[in-house]
Amino acid sequence: DTLVAPCSGEIVLLHKSLHALTIETPDGTQILIHLGIDTVNLKGEGFSAFIQQGEKVQAGQKLIQFDTDLLAKKALSLVSVIIIVEGSTKKKYKLTTPVQSQVKAGQQDYTCINFEQVKNVELDQKTSSRSFQSVPFFVRLPSGMHARPAAQLAELSKKFESQIEFIKQGKQASLSSLVSVLGLEIQKDDEITILATGNDCHQAVKAVLEYLVLLEEKEIASFKVEHRSTDDTNSTYTQLRSNERTILGIKASAGVVVGTVVELKEEEFEYESQSEHKELEINQFEEAMGSASSDLEKLSEKYEKEQDANKAAIFAAHKSLLEDPDLVAETVELINKGHTSAFAWNQVIQLHCDRLRSLKNELIAGRANDLKDIGNRVLRKILDKPEGHKFESVKDAILIAEDLTPSDMAMFENGSVRGFCTTLGGATSHVAIMARSMGIPALAGTEKRCLELENGRNVILDADRGALLLDPTESEINNVKKRQALEESKKSKALQECFRPAITTDGNQIEVVANISGITDAEKSIANGGEGVGLLRTEFLFLEREKAPTEEEQLEIHQSIADALGDKTLVIRTMDVGGDKSLKYLPIEPEENPFLGVRGIRLSLENKDIFRTQLRALLRVEAKRPINIMFPMIGQLSELRAAKQILSEEMKNTGRSNVKVGMMIEVPSAAVMAETFAKEVDFFSVGTNDLTQYTMAMDRGHNSLAKQIDGLHPAVLNMISMTVNGAHKYGKWVGVCGGIASDMQAIPILLGLGIDELSLSIPQIPMIKSNVRKLNKLECLKLTKEALALSSAEEVRELVSKKWPDLA
Ligand code: PEP
Ligand code: MG
Repeated sequence: DTLVAPCSGEIVLLHKSLHALTIETPDGTQILIHLGIDTVNLKGEGFSAFIQQGEKVQAGQKLIQFDTDLLAKKALSLVSVIIIVEGSTKKKYKLTTPVQSQVKAGQQDYTCINFEQVKNVELDQKTSSRSFQSVPFFVRLPSGMHARPAAQLAELSKKFESQIEFIKQGKQASLSSLVSVLGLEIQKDDEITILATGNDCHQAVKAVLEYLVLLEEKEIASFKVEHRSTDDTNSTYTQLRSNERTILGIKASAGVVVGTVVELKEEEFEYESQSEHKELEINQFEEAMGSASSDLEKLSEKYEKEQDANKAAIFAAHKSLLEDPDLVAETVELINKGHTSAFAWNQVIQLHCDRLRSLKNELIAGRANDLKDIGNRVLRKILDKPEGHKFESVKDAILIAEDLTPSDMAMFENGSVRGFCTTLGGATSHVAIMARSMGIPALAGTEKRCLELENGRNVILDADRGALLLDPTESEINNVKKRQALEESKKSKALQECFRPAITTDGNQIEVVANISGITDAEKSIANGGEGVGLLRTEFLFLEREKAPTEEEQLEIHQSIADALGDKTLVIRTMDVGGDKSLKYLPIEPEENPFLGVRGIRLSLENKDIFRTQLRALLRVEAKRPINIMFPMIGQLSELRAAKQILSEEMKNTGRSNVKVGMMIEVPSAAVMAETFAKEVDFFSVGTNDLTQYTMAMDRGHNSLAKQIDGLHPAVLNMISMTVNGAHKYGKWVGVCGGIASDMQAIPILLGLGIDELSLSIPQIPMIKSNVRKLNKLECLKLTKEALALSSAEEVRELVSKKWPDLA
């Protein structure tokens, strides 16, 4: 029942549950000992320690005592794991076979570890410097290691003197060579390691790992958003069939447009293959590379200034591709063999394009297009060929091409191109991303026969339905034009009238406010007719930082938001971290179900210093109206009371009195007990994103369940109904700040449920206000009663769309 020290050393870690510790020997070897499996769950029960963290111990000294009976009953397993981690010394281990019988603690060796000086270490021979390798880990990037993250890591690797490499299944690729990294075809869930060789090898591995985690978090978040929005638009349309007049493709960017076919031919280059002037060729090549690189930098900076992060990142990735040392070295080698720089460069680009195209991962294979793009950019420089439009400028051009490059797209910005179709590429290509941010419809992977269409042919590009319609009839063109015009005029009318209040035809006003995460949003929301802020997600202030923001930093930001809002409502939610949002400086113990773990208010109550600092910063804000402070993820009365207790202590500390206190309704327990909670708060705000996830037991970011996670499900609507009834009984107001507040079809139901405030994403404010003005509350009430008794979200949507077909 006692763990004794297997060797002398320092206790560098003693877990607070006392079930595990780490001893470090003077030469840096670490021995991790873990008693039993899942014993962390005992939270220290049955364990007592003889030593403390930081203490030096001798071999044989007693470390931890444990209750064997209790462990046998409560632990998942009594297997105890010992892990030995190599220290910084160049030693290797030799382990004797474990003794197969009982041993006496402290008196007999169980396993004997001998250290031997390492000889013939390959890495040490190659470079006289040190090397460090990470443990193997799984890549979480949803689309694998594609060009943008790889380019960002290549940029980071330049900061280190060490050579940094990724290793996958024994194959290595230097981070500085984008083509090599892409060639490893690292997919989501692939196991890789990072190896750095050089004096700063430890820092290099750590930095790459940390940066990778950051990139993964960002990509996972945007992947979820993109997937949801694509699903939404697809579901509204019926599928078209391929026929003589209809050519199908994959929607790369939404929209519908009428135009004329313009075929964009592959650019052709002419050059000699041999040259006897090696130096001249190398000079020419270097100059071309320098000039192409500076063009790309300018393009990236231009988009950064225009706050178009996607395009800026694409051209920054192109610059990294261009700087790939492998591409340069291979070209120089060919020039040295007697080839012209144009020939050499093109050969190398072709070779790598072919390699990339042969990869299974579509996204990475698609990067061949980017490589071809930079290839042509440099070739033009070498051959002194002007960079111009490769197509005749035609009004309302719909470009048809085998493939387009991001540089082609950058030239379209004069507005003459209305859409495009390519036979290659897919929805994830850089070209597709650019089309989406330029707001022009596009199809990728289009049937090859579109390349045979003659220039000047009339077409309708209906990307929403994934089709190119040939020779449209007058009435088809008129229909599209009507569809566009109606959409446009609705939007512009709504924008013109966005400052009018949202009052139903029978005189009921609903407050329409915004969900924001910073000062820029606050300003935008006012310009779009927002009547205040119903949800300030303060956690964005805390994310992606090394340290928590100070009270003064927080105060400054919140004060600027309050100043921008003047006398408008401001509801500030205390930080909602945990679940899918993590903080570097506030590590959360790994949890099996983080969305059901220490999240939102639970995390704040466990980290009172950060919570108190945030509250003080909020309480010091000077605003024209009392500010509203709201707690996230409240599930139990005890949590609300604990949070309110801390708030009232900080109110005393800051001398503040006029504060309204509210809570989010995101957990079914809170909705069901709304009446009880209503007695203790000033208002509720329903977070339907989480309320739906917890009511339906479906992860809000789940890809294959995405279509079923619908806040209009009658189960969720009944939860909201209980919330409103509970609140109104005690004269408290209820807002909705989850996704369905921005969903046109949900508006009549929310009005019918008696919601007092809608807090939504900024671009939707004008349209939602305009729609509220068309509704009659009494009719909404009647319809909602029916909706509450239905059995699925689809039925609810059908009910609404029958009554108000124009709302979708
Ligand atoms: C919600 O859950 O609906 C909500 C508004 O909170 P968040 O999306 O920030 O979790
Ligand atoms: Mg939430």
